[in-house]
Amino acid sequence: MIADLARLVGAEHVVAEPRADALADASAYAGVSGQAAALVRPGHAEEVASVVTWCADRGVPVVPRGGGTGFSGGCVPQDPTSVVVAVDRLDAVRALDPLQWRAHVEAGVTTARLARLARENGLRFPVDPGAAEQSHVGGNIATNAGGPHCFKYGVTRAWVLGVEAVLGNGDLVTVGGSVRKDAAGYDLAGLLCGSEGTLGIITAAWMRLIPAPPIEVPLAAVFADARAGQDGIDAVLGSGVVPAVVEFLDAGSLRAAGPTFPGGLPRDAGFLLIVEVDTTEDDVAEVVQALDEAGGTVLRPDDRELWRWRDGVSIAVAAQHGGKLSEDIGVPVECVAEAVQATVEIAARHGLEGCSWGHAGDGNLHSTFLLDPTDAAQLERADAAAKDLFAMALSLGGTVSGEHGIGLLKAGWLSKQWAPGAVAAQEAIRHALDPAGVMNPGVKRP
Ligand code: FAD
Repeated sequence: MIADLARLVGAEHVVAEPRADALADASAYAGVSGQAAALVRPGHAEEVASVVTWCADRGVPVVPRGGGTGFSGGCVPQDPTSVVVAVDRLDAVRALDPLQWRAHVEAGVTTARLARLARENGLRFPVDPGAAEQSHVGGNIATNAGGPHCFKYGVTRAWVLGVEAVLGNGDLVTVGGSVRKDAAGYDLAGLLCGSEGTLGIITAAWMRLIPAPPIEVPLAAVFADARAGQDGIDAVLGSGVVPAVVEFLDAGSLRAAGPTFPGGLPRDAGFLLIVEVDTTEDDVAEVVQALDEAGGTVLRPDDRELWRWRDGVSIAVAAQHGGKLSEDIGVPVECVAEAVQATVEIAARHGLEGCSWGHAGDGNLHSTFLLDPTDAAQLERADAAAKDLFAMALSLGGTVSGEHGIGLLKAGWLSKQWAPGAVAAQEAIRHALDPAGVMNPGVKRP
């Protein structure tokens, strides 16, 4: 295997028996680890195609790897015979067309680099998942990633004009491209969004950009508890203004991250809303009034400091006990407070501490169980708690994953969320694009 792969991509780009950290993602906090026979780092799309073809011909599992920031174990190989295909060497910006609001980038370009390129040209790439310096554009597409600004601007799918990808049978295909609209075929580019490496490997994409907004004003509003915070969410949505961001942190998250909030927070803060308005000062005033009338104490933190702090929330929470199992359930937006409360209760039932933060405007909660990752009993209890959490989300009419995907960790849950006919349709598509069944075989199992 190693000799064949070396012939395909060059010996210096093949690692036999890769190190554990090259096989892990952000779910390592929850004790997920991987094993593989080899890791390859192709330098262009044709090399990716030759590796996938080699694997498909021999029934060898292929695990695509981007920045390794996923939270569901999607790039963590479970079969020791797997070949991990890391796309970090595919990092060229093939074209940047600021006047057409468009960039053509390879899959290994980081989210932060694309965002910087846009910014330097007076534009925005508004998709902003947390670990932007590490995560890749290809990984964002493969997980259909979201982030705070996706409340107004939509998740990754809304920003993909076209995709170049190697399908599971080794075919290198391009769908879409520089055109802004394309109704000719099935939405294959859309199908790859959120496919978690099960249909093929994205090698490049045409990404849509937009002109930078005129202002970006962050507001924070402190409430006594989640129930009061829900009134704040309802008031913002009812104000008629479309904010760019509506984020929240509950009392448990504030215990971990609150002490470093820029400018400080009142001691008894039980729920925090972060709202960013990027249109006009009149809209800012409208939202301030709505938050105030809903009983919130409104603050105006510094923009840069606020987002730097927000990026560290996940780490601050994990640091409490050394690890965490963090989920990403979605519920109807009017059920956020109920889901926040239920998360704490589920954790307590399993002898754990629980908290949530996340994207309030999208009803997307990072419901989290704090744990010591070296304690097998705690890991087991967190796993059981996660099952109750998913069941709770479904009972509220929600989803088991708002943004991280099924990965390894939520295997079996899609068939509880979807009717059998829908699950069968997904499996038929998977088989059509990956007839040998080699693409990320353990991942996105319904
Ligand atoms: P990886 O972790 O490498 O892989 C993720 C999945 O995509 C795997 O199934 C893998 O096989 C597949 N994949 C990767 N690259 C390709 C490719 N080129 N072709 C085909 N399949 C591929 N996510 C959000 O949505 N919103 C957030 O706000 C958010 N915040 C985060 C905060 C932190 C601190 C961290 C660590 C993660 C956060 N995430 C968030 C999760 C993660 O950052 C995103 O899902 C990210 O888009 C994954 O990109 P990646 O390149 O790291 O993918």
